[in-house]
Amino acid sequence: MRFNVSQQLKAPVGVVRAYDIDGRLGNELVTGRATFTRTAAGILVQAECQTKAVWTCGRCAGPYTQLMTLEIEEEFIPAYDMVSRARVEIDEETYRIDASHTLDLAEAVQEGALLASPIKPLCRSNCAGLCPVCGANLNEATCTCAARSGHAALAELGRRWTERQAI
Ligand SMILES: [Zn+2]
Ligand SMILES: [Zn+2]
Repeated sequence: MRFNVSQQLKAPVGVVRAYDIDGRLGNELVTGRATFTRTAAGILVQAECQTKAVWTCGRCAGPYTQLMTLEIEEEFIPAYDMVSRARVEIDEETYRIDASHTLDLAEAVQEGALLASPIKPLCRSNCAGLCPVCGANLNEATCTCAARSGHAALAELGRRWTERQAI
């Protein structure tokens, strides 16, 4: 996800270029589209890309894979002045274009992935989770402890219901 932007840095403010994103984040492919716009200070990157990520479900602790859409909007500033080659003062948080005019999207994509990460990951919206008694994954099995505790209460309810109907 590295782009050489030396030509665009020489272009006037407002010049836009479009690029395909085709890279990797860890083991997963990242694909998408980006537009680079020349700004007064550097290059504004606006990108939307897709990647897959493996999460651990917060209810059943099972791993699952989910497609993520990342949106990036960041201005990259050249670390060195194009003409004088002098080092430009930029604060730590700003993304840089390095001395060889390479704009590397990797860090911004990583940041985007972090922002798109679920706070409470769930393998499916109706994940049944784990049995608090025996730890069985209730998506895959019905354990007897759930049935037993549920059964007694239900049986009691059923009995009362039948009694009321009889009155
Ligand atoms: Zn789950
Ligand atoms: Zn159980």
